[in-house]
Amino acid sequence: MDCIFCQIVDGKIPSDIVYQDEEVIAFRDINPVAPAHLLIIPKKHIPSLTHLADVETPLIGHMVKVANQLARKEGIAESGYRLVINSGEQGGQLVPHLHMHLLGGRRLSDAIG
Ligand code: 5GP
Ligand code: ZN
Repeated sequence: MDCIFCQIVDGKIPSDIVYQDEEVIAFRDINPVAPAHLLIIPKKHIPSLTHLADVETPLIGHMVKVANQLARKEGIAESGYRLVINSGEQGGQLVPHLHMHLLGGRRLSDAIG
């Protein structure tokens, strides 16, 4: 498996891990676009939201819960933050392993697309 994020999950590529449990792992984006920029990903290789099975939808709720906890830990819960999941080429997804961006620490753009 040459998936970059699977290699991060397996510890084969170093990353700044801020949280992990049985289902997910969270680490700092290597190329942050905001003062706080974390990625929350499932440990299981799911290529994108499009590939998420119906029975796997609770995983997204878990990722949101972890993101909310991390927002508090990063001190951006009150100032505000944005959760983004890019899906597919036109959705701007570059890494084909499902991931949620947690962005905050500055006033983000009003534009969403
Ligand atoms: P996407 O455009 O697929 O939604 O976002 C992929 C994100 O993964 C980008 O923000 C990019 O900076 C980040 N990224 C890509 N490769 C690595 C890596 O090896 N380590 C870390 N920490 N982040 C990465
Ligand atoms: Zn993967």
